[in-house]
Amino acid sequence: MNYNLAVIKGDGIGPEVVSVAMDVLDKIGEKYGHTFHYDQILMGGCSIDACGVPLTDEAVSAAKKSDAVLLGSIGGNTSTSPWYQLPPDKRPEAGLLKIRKELGLFANLRPALLYPELKSACPLKEEIADRGFDMMIMRELTGGLYFGERGTSEENGMRCAYDTLTYTEEEIRRIAIRGFDIAMKRRKKVTSVDKANVLDSSRLWRAVVNEVAENYPEVTVEHMLVDNCAMQLVKDPAQFDVILTENMFGDILSDEASMVTGSIGMLASASLNETKFGMYEPSGGSAPDIAGQDKANPIATVLSAAMLLRFSLDLDVEADAIEKAIKQVLADGYRTCDIMSEGNTLVGTKEMGQLIMERI
Ligand code: NAD
Repeated sequence: MNYNLAVIKGDGIGPEVVSVAMDVLDKIGEKYGHTFHYDQILMGGCSIDACGVPLTDEAVSAAKKSDAVLLGSIGGNTSTSPWYQLPPDKRPEAGLLKIRKELGLFANLRPALLYPELKSACPLKEEIADRGFDMMIMRELTGGLYFGERGTSEENGMRCAYDTLTYTEEEIRRIAIRGFDIAMKRRKKVTSVDKANVLDSSRLWRAVVNEVAENYPEVTVEHMLVDNCAMQLVKDPAQFDVILTENMFGDILSDEASMVTGSIGMLASASLNETKFGMYEPSGGSAPDIAGQDKANPIATVLSAAMLLRFSLDLDVEADAIEKAIKQVLADGYRTCDIMSEGNTLVGTKEMGQLIMERI
């Protein structure tokens, strides 16, 4: 099959890690009979330098025409880069917000997986890390508290501010459907996280999730209050498969889940719209401190490419092959400097890519 991918290499380590991911995709294409056509578009600081804005309308239409978008990372050193002298709507991050909005990406997926070989990086107790974990945090991205009506006022010298948390049943249903679809590709368990003992929006969330669950009899559903979930993530993370939750709870819980894996260079992410279309990117930033030094860990970006194959192109076997190759490289003792520990072999960005390709 032929696939058209929009590729945004971005800034900092972005070009280095995305080049590795493209090589890995080409290797997959060679082995499984696919051709990936890449349309490279500019976003972030490199687009400011070349076009004067962080994302052009032409770049947006190129992304819309593709089957999926692979993104490195954007931005520079926020203290020293001239990009941060610009007004907020002209800075690199404005490009990211614009593309998410233009592409209607409402579902954010962040896997948190502890590789047995990287157990020593996990900050949890040894007996918890020994059990391992492999979960997917599914966060609603375009509704809730961050997008509700808000205001600040002052009356009789007293300042007051408010934010509102609103969800329609349609907004809940569309993310719940994506969450259950993804659980069907995994261990078939959904933990829906809310605060239904207090919030009306959470009670609606719970009711709609239960309605959607009726169409997925194979999936086990449980409901968990967000405060309990925050505790369970550090007490017994192995219990989770898909965690389905609203915007703010997901923002906090996904960072907590990332932290317990202990290595930012390993964490992939995806943002999806109503169709199978999505944008795939590593969870970390552009790491300007190590850019251009062949030190960046490309695994998060390669895993993001594997998610792209699985969720946008339905190429599960090919995605499995990438994930298996990465596990094998780690088992063989190869490490980039961010995950290096005694007794292993230190490699750079490019060599890590080569080692993954050799195992596909
Ligand atoms: P960062 O994630 O870029 O870096 C934090 C630390 O993690 C650094 O020490 C870095 O070297 C390390 N690191 C990150 N990714 C790594 C990798 N793949 N391999 C090895 N080490 C890695 O966060 P920051 O320094 O706070 O932000 C730098 C820039 O990235 C800022 O401009 C920020 O706005 C931007 N940013 C972009 C995105 C995005 O593109 N989605 C996300 C977060 C931050």
